[in-house]
Amino acid sequence: ATDKLNTSSGAIPATDKPNTSSGDQGTSPEYHTVKNMPTAKLSSGHEIPIVGMGTWKSKPGEVGEAVKTALRAGYRHIDCAYIYKNEPEVGEAFQTIWKEGKVKREEVFITSKLWNSEHAAENVAKACRQTLKDLQLDYLDNYLIHWPQTGNEGPEVQPPIQETWQAMEKLVDEGLVRSIGLSNFSVKKTEAVLSYARIQPSIVQVEIHPYFRNDYLVKFCKEKGIHVTAYSPLGSPDSSAMYKRENVPWVLQDKEVQAVADKLGKSAGQVLIRWAIQHGTSVIPKSIKPERIRQNLDVLDWEIPQEDFQKLSSLQFQMRMLDGAECVKENGPYKSINDVWDGEV
Ligand code: NDP
Repeated sequence: ATDKLNTSSGAIPATDKPNTSSGDQGTSPEYHTVKNMPTAKLSSGHEIPIVGMGTWKSKPGEVGEAVKTALRAGYRHIDCAYIYKNEPEVGEAFQTIWKEGKVKREEVFITSKLWNSEHAAENVAKACRQTLKDLQLDYLDNYLIHWPQTGNEGPEVQPPIQETWQAMEKLVDEGLVRSIGLSNFSVKKTEAVLSYARIQPSIVQVEIHPYFRNDYLVKFCKEKGIHVTAYSPLGSPDSSAMYKRENVPWVLQDKEVQAVADKLGKSAGQVLIRWAIQHGTSVIPKSIKPERIRQNLDVLDWEIPQEDFQKLSSLQFQMRMLDGAECVKENGPYKSINDVWDGEV
């Protein structure tokens, strides 16, 4: 199976003591190592560390510091995208870290995503090279088609996803990218890619948390040996448009989540991140606050008891916080939110 967590035992030691004390000048930043960070084996043969850090909505002047804090705290997986408009600053942060000499490029799993306007075959490599330039990297560990839409008019997505996928496969052939995958694809749209893929998608990245379990897609991906990454694991509480419009509750403030957090002496955020791991996905919480960045990684040496896990896995309220409304266009291929997700819940 390609989707097994590589954990040698249930108990995973948490972060070590800082490893900078000996022989350093005293001015170098503190580094922590995480022993036995669980990874999942991808169909590409590579491995993805189970906890990563997101960078969406991390502002200029904030995102670089967050990435440096994360890598020094022991994260080995950073989730980026061209459209987050902060890749150059993330690239600067990577350079600082490589130069500090405690973490090597090869030890970090770095994801980026192809934006909707660049789906044409001739644009895919260009967009990927731009991201590589901005991030100051020779290769990406993972490159995803960000959304299954291009913004065109007419009944079909144009250029067709098949053309885009074949261009993504070429990036692997050329060594620019190690694994390729999809983001915000339904089961139906993922199945279509599988029908013609020469290189199968290694990863599908979608919204998942106890208020949107996405179980149909998770089960499908497991059967097909596709790894799932859970985005917005805390319910994306800073995506205010959705919450204001619908007056939607925050999963971070859910009574059951809070009760489990109190019982275990953890924060609600930690419980949600741990829930994602036990749910069988990798998970990419975003923060720019050093304390939270560290806290969000401190989820490896304890578990949510089975009974509580089941409770959190059966919350009644289920709703996408990121519903893909931007993909809906009267004259486009997706005329409703239902079309974007093919009616799947
Ligand atoms: P998250 O669910 O990760 O929530 C982030 C928010 O929670 C921020 O406001 C953050 O604030 C706050 N927060 C972080 N840690 C804690 C904590 N321990 N307790 C309480 N609050 C906390 O939302 P995102 O939507 O950002 O999702 C995570 C990542 O997933 C993105 O950054 C991006 O990389 C990826 N993603 C991918 C998408 C895709 O289309 N493929 C779509 C959406 C997300 P602060 O920073 O102030 O700490």
